[in-house]
Amino acid sequence: AIAIRDLHKHFGALEVLKGISLTAHEGDVIAIIGGSGSGKSTLLRCINMLEVPSRGSVAIRGEEIALKPNGVGGLTTADRRQVQRLRSRLGMVFQSFNLWQHMTILQNVIEAPVHVLGVPKAEAVARGEALLRRVGLFDKRDAYPAFLSGGQQQRAAIARALAVQPHVMLFDEPTSALDPELVGEVLTVIGDLAREQRTMILVTHEMKFARNVASHIVFLAHGVIEEQGPPEQIFGDPKSERLKKFISSSH
Ligand code: ATP
Ligand code: MG
Repeated sequence: AIAIRDLHKHFGALEVLKGISLTAHEGDVIAIIGGSGSGKSTLLRCINMLEVPSRGSVAIRGEEIALKPNGVGGLTTADRRQVQRLRSRLGMVFQSFNLWQHMTILQNVIEAPVHVLGVPKAEAVARGEALLRRVGLFDKRDAYPAFLSGGQQQRAAIARALAVQPHVMLFDEPTSALDPELVGEVLTVIGDLAREQRTMILVTHEMKFARNVASHIVFLAHGVIEEQGPPEQIFGDPKSERLKKFISSSH
């Protein structure tokens, strides 16, 4: 469904991603783990072109996003139309919930379907309400984000991301801004999506969760994939010293 090839990203002299290749097939649940500063968020941001990769390629359903050199300094730009199309096929959930504060929960959820995808309002509302029911927020549909707990806001953000019927969901540490008692309700929603074999790429510090829901684990260190494999192998039989250290330090 989505293929990343030899992806590089520089910020000035700092090379944050040093040739990442990764494919998420239909139904894959890929968890990206790794230490702070290893490049996890940058990788996700490159996948949806919030950061333009310095080199390499991102392709969704076979359509590769064209990158053009942009004058001096090694900067690149991506084709705008293609980026729009790419984003409409991705659902992104961030660490901070990023709901639109001046809109109700339901308005948040139907905004992109109605205004970007042109779904008729009544249909978007019906679908949006169904999504809110799924994440346990139907009764909050007319509330404003500020009146919801962090866990509720994050579940609303997940419903909003699902509303565009994305091919791939991207999550960047969706629970790390939450109070500990609210983490479980959000992981439950994400776990349900994983069990439905929704294609997703998830950055997480929740090792137990990654082990339980992911079909594939990618361990990032200093901008390269240091090790990858099925959860049993990564957690049960890690090969690299870095990964062993990381796992023993994250309990
Ligand atoms: P964390 O677990 O703390 O979220 P991460 O693995 O997500 O870390 P990134 O946020 O991808 O790490 O950052 C990787 C490196 O890139 C860091 O050294 C960071 O300072 C640097 N970096 C990220 N974004 C930028 C930017 N816009 N400009 C300059 N440097 C950046
Ligand atoms: Mg990060």
